[in-house]
Amino acid sequence: MTELLPHPLTGQPFASPVPAGTGWPDDPAASGTPVAHDADDVRRLADEVDLAELDARVSVCSACDRLVQWREDVARDKRASFADQPYWGRPIAGWGAERPGVLIVGLAPAANGGNRTGRIFTGDRSGDWLFASLHRVGLASQPTSEHAGDGLRLIDTRMVATVRCAPPQNRPTTQERNTCSPWIEREISLVAPSVRVVVALGGYGWDAALRSFKAAGFDVPRPKPKFGHGAEALIGDRVTLLGCFHPSQQNTFTGKLTEEMTDAVFRRAATLV
Ligand code: SF4
Repeated sequence: MTELLPHPLTGQPFASPVPAGTGWPDDPAASGTPVAHDADDVRRLADEVDLAELDARVSVCSACDRLVQWREDVARDKRASFADQPYWGRPIAGWGAERPGVLIVGLAPAANGGNRTGRIFTGDRSGDWLFASLHRVGLASQPTSEHAGDGLRLIDTRMVATVRCAPPQNRPTTQERNTCSPWIEREISLVAPSVRVVVALGGYGWDAALRSFKAAGFDVPRPKPKFGHGAEALIGDRVTLLGCFHPSQQNTFTGKLTEEMTDAVFRRAATLV
């Protein structure tokens, strides 16, 4: 029998993974949202949809067999410290302002973070680091992000993952990245009219941002600009790409990325918009 557990904020019981349209806070999908089952479906379903429907379709996508298996296994097995919680166990849609000035591009959701809470960078240490910085520079309404439905708002900012499902060892394959790419490319083409700054988290986010803006019809620099913390490049004639080391524990525990360094990048982003 499917185990139902209460959502930590609302108390409503959910199965893990969470069926679409059953009341999870900010679930963009409904029970009838079309599901992509392979790469061709992703391309077709990402074509010519608005942002709300794009989010919905992303959140039920099942195109990558390995990632579907992994995200759902993690959702059912659960980390011991979260054994009393339901896990989202679905892809993570972009989240934040619909017409953002700042777009943050990351790698993929964490198995026990976004894959548990259903919101990007929510419920893991990387997110704690990131949202605290965004709050300090005025781009987030509160410094913590533990659960969807907690009232947190991003200010003039949107976050997207390049690959929308949690991958084993945080390493999607090139084929999985390519299968997922129409989702981010469509999202970028929808938000591009307002975006002035893209903050790329890590080299993966940097490359994905350049690739996706190019696919959306923007001129990107040639040769490809080198990623680094604080690196800047111009996309088209008005979008500044900023590099930021990824706020993984590998970087924050070792001091490779400090709070001051993170704030400096996001302060620069806030200044540019
Ligand atoms: S990684 Fe992307 S394309 Fe693959 S199943 Fe997840 S959302 Fe779909």
